[in-house]
Amino acid sequence: MPSTFEYKWDTPKYKGQTSFSTGLFIGGQFVDGSGGTTIDVINPTTGKLITTISEGTEKDVDAAVDAAQKAFDTVWGLKVGGLERSQLLWDLAQVMEKHKEELAAIEALDNGKTYDWAYGTDVTFAIEVVKYFAGWADKISGQTIETDERKLIYTRHEPIGVVGQIIPWNFPLLMWSWKIAPALATGNTIVLKPSEFTPLTAIRMCGLIKEAGIPDGVVNIVTGYGQTVGAAISAHMKIEKVAFTGSTLVGRKIMEAAAKSNLKTVTLELGGKSPNIIYDDADLEQAVNWAAHGIFWNHGQACCAGSRIFVQAGIYDKFMEKFVAKARSIKVGDPFGPDTEQGPQVSQIQYDRIMGYINSGKEEGATVVTGGDRNGSEGYFINPTIFTDVKPDMKIVQEEIFGPVGVVIKFTDEDDVIRQANDTVYGLAAAVFTQNLNRAIETAHRLQAGTAWINCVNQLHAQVPFGGYKQSGIGRELGEYALANYTNVKAVHINLQHKK
Ligand code: NAD
Repeated sequence: MPSTFEYKWDTPKYKGQTSFSTGLFIGGQFVDGSGGTTIDVINPTTGKLITTISEGTEKDVDAAVDAAQKAFDTVWGLKVGGLERSQLLWDLAQVMEKHKEELAAIEALDNGKTYDWAYGTDVTFAIEVVKYFAGWADKISGQTIETDERKLIYTRHEPIGVVGQIIPWNFPLLMWSWKIAPALATGNTIVLKPSEFTPLTAIRMCGLIKEAGIPDGVVNIVTGYGQTVGAAISAHMKIEKVAFTGSTLVGRKIMEAAAKSNLKTVTLELGGKSPNIIYDDADLEQAVNWAAHGIFWNHGQACCAGSRIFVQAGIYDKFMEKFVAKARSIKVGDPFGPDTEQGPQVSQIQYDRIMGYINSGKEEGATVVTGGDRNGSEGYFINPTIFTDVKPDMKIVQEEIFGPVGVVIKFTDEDDVIRQANDTVYGLAAAVFTQNLNRAIETAHRLQAGTAWINCVNQLHAQVPFGGYKQSGIGRELGEYALANYTNVKAVHINLQHKK
């Protein structure tokens, strides 16, 4: 029997408790992993153990796929109408609303993001995503296609079947919602693996899925490591589609596994090194505020983080003065503290990785204008860090740091900045700040990125597609575009004359 996780919060931000099983969730039951082993879940604020969870294996993935297939064939898939799926997703959103504070507290504890952000962004947005796709569930339809009078032809958008989903640790519940909601709306059943670093909200959601009345086996959660559970999902012969959010390195492995197994379709949401371009005529105050949000939001652990900040020469000095002051004013501390704006990085591994990048920047001759060091003596806290005097081939300019570390680069004109901004293997997002609308639009169109923000940054909506150009990914999540990831198109030809 898996153990139960019990936790009580008595903090300035949240007073309450939670209690849930820490097993794998297969066929509607919480079970131990078949290997009988567990994974430690560490609190990034203290570096100490929060709890242990069951570790899944390849065998557990097989069991989860069987449970998902059975549910697809008997209680989901083509067995239920869209209206019913819509209602169940809506009920799930209502149950999430009821547990909103608890979910935010679990997320802040497990990931280290502030309680306020977990509540206001992660959980709120996750609920919106579930509601948005609830609205689509009864609107999935094909077309009739005219050829000639002897034929009637129509298309159906059918569910794929059992889909595999693998998510990262930076927005655990939010990424869960981006994956689960469109897959359920379109009638698929699911085997999902959360990150081993932040599995708790995905596990907590299993009880809420039951409470909402979604049938057993429709959603299965196998917690475990990427090399075992993740690899088993991506190579599974009975999974016809895998959706992944994570690093470009692992995305490549998932594509390889898909190619070597059953050629399952793959959607990938990967890394970024997003440019944030600030022209001379930008509203300075606003550009500073947005640039800080761009790189320091979620402690820099955002795939779309505006980590390369390009500032035009005429505004550079004034911008730097205000931007550095803003970075220094960010209150780093306990995610449940009364006025904390930035919590710890998610893990010791990420802390070491980020400090490694900071040291490489220093060694390669860049200047640390502020930050560049640890905050406090326990947990994984890093001060907001800004580099200047960088060169295009430095690691801190080319590679995704995934921490509160931005580089500021001076530029002369539009052609100069577009060339530099596009000089990256990534193409997830970009931002432009100017009061000249023509220049804003022209720049946005010339940038190689799946999202271009004008006079804002890191804005995401359930209704709007999100995904990358180049090595930032394949496919789009959110919006109507996401439905295509989870449906097969069937063309049905009816010969009205019966004759050959
Ligand atoms: P990661 O690639 O290390 O891990 C992501 C998931 O993949 C985890 O669940 C992990 O266990 C699993 N995994 C690891 N090795 C695997 C393997 N061999 N086969 C199958 N699965 C495997 O990424 P991370 O460190 O958790 O997250 C950070 C990365 O995610 C960053 O690069 C970030 O840019 C990216 N990200 C992208 C988006 C987006 O929408 N584009 C959103 C969030 C995060």
